[in-house]
Amino acid sequence: MNTRQCELCEGAVERVLWHDVLCVVVSVDDPALPGFIRVVLNRHAAEMTDLPTSDRQQLMQVVWAVETVIRRELRPDKINLASLGNVVPHLHWHVIPRWRDDPWFPQPIWAPAVRSAHVPPARREAADRMIANFGALLDAALARG
Ligand SMILES: [Zn+2]
Repeated sequence: MNTRQCELCEGAVERVLWHDVLCVVVSVDDPALPGFIRVVLNRHAAEMTDLPTSDRQQLMQVVWAVETVIRRELRPDKINLASLGNVVPHLHWHVIPRWRDDPWFPQPIWAPAVRSAHVPPARREAADRMIANFGALLDAALARG
């Protein structure tokens, strides 16, 4: 696929928080979901089972470390992990902190909203702090395993 046709390759407006040879971790700028993070493989592959086992395991270690950081820093009501990739064959994982008062709960965030967005200031501030320190927080979570 031509990378110019892939919004994940283009990187768009997402802020890179961390990267290694396998993947990049970006902040998803959704005002209704502070702390929404995406883990994007550094190359095109459609399915996890297209990857060598070691890459699969390494990618999921990063996804789980991202989840650990979000849980520790934001204490959401739930984490949603999602890998859809129906639009482009470019593996990525959404790591989504969910709250009972978010616009979609308990439905997936891609469903129609059932309430308006209301983010308590403390939640937004905690997410801003997490994003600002994300590289160090993720390195620490990965080191703990
Ligand atoms: Zn791509």
